[in-house]
Amino acid sequence: MHKDTTGILRDFWGHDNFRGSQKEIIDTVLSGQDVLALMPTGGGKSICYQVPSLAMEGICIVVSPLVALIQDQVAQLKKRNIKAIALTGGIPPDELNNLLDNCIYGNYKFLYLSPERLQQTIVQERIQQMNVNLIAIDEAHCISQWGNDFRPAYLGCSILKEFVPNTPMIALTATATPRVVDDIVENLGLEQVNIFKDSFSRTNINFRVKHTEDKLYQLKKYMDKVSGSAIVYVRSRKMSVSLANFLIKNGISASFFHGGIPKSEKEEKLNLWLTGKVRTMVATNAFGMGVDKPDVRLVVHYQVPDSLESYFQEAGRAGRDGKPSTAIILTSNEDGDKAKQQFLSTLPDVAFVKTVYSKLNNYFQISYGELITEPLAFKFNEFCKRYEFNATMAFNALRILDQNSVLSLAENFKEKTTLQFVAPKSEIFDYLDKNRKTAPVIQTILRTYGGITEYETKINLYLLAQKTDVNEERLKHILQQLADDNIAEYHNNTSDLEITFLVPREDDHTINPFAKKIKDFNKVKQNNMAAMLGYISNKKVCRSIYLLNYFGEKTTEKCGTCDICTRKERVVSPYDLEKRIMELLDISPHTSRQLEKEIGANEKELLKTLERLLEDGLVSLNFRNEYIKK
Ligand code: ADP
Repeated sequence: MHKDTTGILRDFWGHDNFRGSQKEIIDTVLSGQDVLALMPTGGGKSICYQVPSLAMEGICIVVSPLVALIQDQVAQLKKRNIKAIALTGGIPPDELNNLLDNCIYGNYKFLYLSPERLQQTIVQERIQQMNVNLIAIDEAHCISQWGNDFRPAYLGCSILKEFVPNTPMIALTATATPRVVDDIVENLGLEQVNIFKDSFSRTNINFRVKHTEDKLYQLKKYMDKVSGSAIVYVRSRKMSVSLANFLIKNGISASFFHGGIPKSEKEEKLNLWLTGKVRTMVATNAFGMGVDKPDVRLVVHYQVPDSLESYFQEAGRAGRDGKPSTAIILTSNEDGDKAKQQFLSTLPDVAFVKTVYSKLNNYFQISYGELITEPLAFKFNEFCKRYEFNATMAFNALRILDQNSVLSLAENFKEKTTLQFVAPKSEIFDYLDKNRKTAPVIQTILRTYGGITEYETKINLYLLAQKTDVNEERLKHILQQLADDNIAEYHNNTSDLEITFLVPREDDHTINPFAKKIKDFNKVKQNNMAAMLGYISNKKVCRSIYLLNYFGEKTTEKCGTCDICTRKERVVSPYDLEKRIMELLDISPHTSRQLEKEIGANEKELLKTLERLLEDGLVSLNFRNEYIKK
């Protein structure tokens, strides 16, 4: 067997040297120990499990969350003449059987699958017959409910440890907050784990925050200033459409991307952007994991993200090729309040989750102690209306019930009915004239949804049925007719939800076991938002330092390019100086030299202030002669 790992790297990938912690990680895996690898996006995580698998007999099982990621990885390996198999959806049973056979007898080196696939009995049985040399859990933060991409099915990954007990496991992620790290280690059952963390520093990215009351103007300005591929992140589907239109109207090549676009269209849009035919993608965070384009020069956040974790991941899609790039947040005065309103006011507390659970049982007429095992069709809108629930908050409560295995929600829950009138106004009027019977319904739609002639708009069929006295089935028929007659574009993804209860009704007793988890979760969300807003309002600490400190890296090296570093020097008042010292010491201990460098203040002034703070007992010196806050 080829044990020379550098040789493998050179022969198969054409790279001369390992970078960061790759070599140490690979050596540790080869010595049979578990590893958790924390590396920034683009850091070269895949090499860390691919090289050791090639250096050993047997096959490496890779759990990965997205079909697109799996397909891309397998294609890359095949290109290098490495035998790899992807178990994606829609494989007929015969073929699945064959593929699994190949993994046992066919000298394959990699088997990629989703966590859901791993739960299939036939897959589990056959894995136990394979000569597994390594288990790799990619995007391992999906296992943590504190992460941004929690996938409950990831919790099932630990079963692999039982199937192949003496095989090392490597978990890989670019999300590195301590809480997520703890969750990964615990939930995967990693033993005496070796944690490797490469610096998350992205020195080629110029991080900026622009305070403005005219975001459109600033967006256009930055698009003109920075050439090359770009991503503009927004928070709503509607906004993705309208901003893309704005850019196109201003002569900038753009398209939009969000979770409600049909799959085939998504692929087409993604391809146009990946190949550079479309320069800008205006997207919600559905445009995320697996977007691996090396030459993105600009990432704009048009609205405030929910956490620095999300922000860093999204901004990190800029400059994967190492060339200078910009990541900018455009923010206006009202943004902070808006973001809090959007994210925090809809977090359900324990009492609310209990109420939703109890009403849900009443809705289905389930009595105490009873369990109905078959899936139940559920009209979510009707449910919210009947019990006067805020829809987002009720949805969040249902998600908590789902994540804690009280019930299971069918995946199509988030799908919606959308409509956009695409014909010119004159044609719409003609249509109304010619279709007298359906005209009142169409007019109600046009009156209810301002902007429906401009962008794809979510339609609430339940509400519309009440307004027009036409039942939902008939409404759908009318909308379909509009589409068939090329008057409107209509997408009907059933908005009804399917619920399967997993435990008998025991009211509060069902919720109590995870009540603390709900409280902690809400607290984390609040802290996340506070840190995000802190980053935006920060006027003193270098953006790069701020981000790295947040991710637990104690660095004081200024980037020299962000909006803070490049701000014109100004005279610092003694009061400001004191405040800035305390802010910096809040983050980590600093020597007077470091403080001087950070603040850019006059040395004499700084030392005088530090002396006063020492005398007042507000700071002290540690054994390394660093100032610390008391
Ligand atoms: P990640 O999954 O961490 O985002 P990838 O594994 O996709 O990153 O690697 C990003 C890019 O860096 C790939 O093109 C990969 O071939 C390249 N790469 C990885 N390791 C090295 C290395 N040691 N030397 C040069 N390039 C590398």
